[in-house]
Amino acid sequence: MSTATIVGSGPNGLAAAITLARAGIAVTVLEATDRPGGGCRSSESLVPGLIHDDCAATHPMAIGSSFLKSLDLDRHNVRWLLPEVDCAHPLDDGTAGILYRSVDDTAAGLGNDGGRWLALFGYPSRHFDTLAEDITAPLLRIPRHPIHLARFGVPAALPASAVARLFRTEPARALYGGVAAHAFRPLHYPMTAAVGLGIMTAGHRYGWPVVSGGTGSLVRAMVATLTELGGTIHIGARVDRAGQLPDADLTLFDLEPGSVAKILGDRLPTGVLRAFRRFRHGPGAFKVDFAVEGGVPWTNPDAHRAGTVHLGGSYAELASTERLIHAGTMPERPFVLVGQQYLADPQRSVSDVHPLWTYAHVPFGYPGDATEAIIRQIERFAPGFRARIVGTAVRSTTAMSAYNANYVGGDIMTGAKDVRQLVFGPRIGLSPYSLGAPGMFLCSAATPPGPGAHGMCGVHAANAALKHLRRSSRHP
Ligand SMILES: Cc1cc2nc3c(=O)[nH]c(=O)nc-3n(C[C@H](O)[C@H](O)[C@H](O)COP(=O)(O)OP(=O)(O)OC[C@H]3O[C@@H](n4cnc5c(N)ncnc54)[C@H](O)[C@@H]3O)c2cc1C
Repeated sequence: MSTATIVGSGPNGLAAAITLARAGIAVTVLEATDRPGGGCRSSESLVPGLIHDDCAATHPMAIGSSFLKSLDLDRHNVRWLLPEVDCAHPLDDGTAGILYRSVDDTAAGLGNDGGRWLALFGYPSRHFDTLAEDITAPLLRIPRHPIHLARFGVPAALPASAVARLFRTEPARALYGGVAAHAFRPLHYPMTAAVGLGIMTAGHRYGWPVVSGGTGSLVRAMVATLTELGGTIHIGARVDRAGQLPDADLTLFDLEPGSVAKILGDRLPTGVLRAFRRFRHGPGAFKVDFAVEGGVPWTNPDAHRAGTVHLGGSYAELASTERLIHAGTMPERPFVLVGQQYLADPQRSVSDVHPLWTYAHVPFGYPGDATEAIIRQIERFAPGFRARIVGTAVRSTTAMSAYNANYVGGDIMTGAKDVRQLVFGPRIGLSPYSLGAPGMFLCSAATPPGPGAHGMCGVHAANAALKHLRRSSRHP
């Protein structure tokens, strides 16, 4: 029987492990921390019974993932739950850009910009399932659906600022800008439209769901599936050097490339080692979870129904703060993402105390404390919020990388999503997954299609590994 070791048990590590185990390979996963799941864990760190997502919370990409659809999620009691409103982007005058799952409802709420919203997102969201076969795979291959891909790809190649200029009203422009800012890149840079268009298009197809009982339920389902297939997971098994790796036909790393370079060193071809040592990270995230009595007193009524609330003010303000964090300067009013998962999943609350998930975009490795900046940003759109806080759990950029070694300097995207790293992954080559050393592969979100809880990087890496095994005729 062929054997495989997976280093790291994030969604991509587990997806790779399940894909290999399904092909009849004996799989062992080595996880550094005391719980599997990487960026998909949930916990009750503040108040017993109050469920917080430690990292990934909202899943417009994961719900449509062909890998997650292949798991029997029902049997594992995992359900996708949708809030009434996917995302609200409140402005200082009390109005807001409102994103619904329905592209028509969203357009109807955007007044004069409704037609432009429909023109941009109507076609790709109607064809999302076929489009997803191309955008959740490495970009450098012959597309399966070139016409759909071309209609999506032309605006995706633009800077987000060029797409934002299509809109005439502030709610539409800011709503679009807030989603585009998920790329953690200055919005005038090329291809910054891609991440926002992907999330928006997936959202208009499937909505922005949360996972019942917390994103950790998804991890439990993946771990149970792997165990049923005979795979094993060792926790507290951090790999720091090649000597710690068991002998296996295949070794896949669910790690950021710098860590792979440290572990494998000169076992990697020189070009790969050099590229991995030079891998670029993006800005950081500073996370604060709150326990809030009575929920957030938003000024805008729709924000009370929204699973996600983006706090960044106007498009121009947002563009400026994203530019600042990229340049290493902490803005006075950073972009803050707020998750109210309990609205769709009330079991996460304890009577009238609700879990509020927030993080701010901050410079890479930001050494300061952004808690007060986050509270002030929420107060700006919800006066009286501070008085309702009954508990706070803070994760600085340093704590973020201690929590998960992949999040270097607080970079939760597993690397800067500049054009080169977005298209090719950490190095230019035919396969973004191969490490160029026999049987060694990279399966983390540093590879295409990139960050998220969808597991598709793991699936593609595992398929590349299986191909290698067949070629070396050690596996049927
Ligand atoms: C605050 C935050 C909010 C986010 N929000 C969302 C969201 O709403 N929606 C979404 O889709 N995505 C979100 N993400 C991103 C998402 O969590 C990641 O893209 C995803 O988890 C990446 O998966 P992965 O398998 O590549 O790696 P990871 O999830 O990073 O897992 C890597 C695993 O490897 C382990 N590891 C690291 N080094 C070693 C070592 N040397 N030896 C052994 N094990 C090691 C780590 O402990 C970890 O368990 C968010 C992330 C964060 C941090």
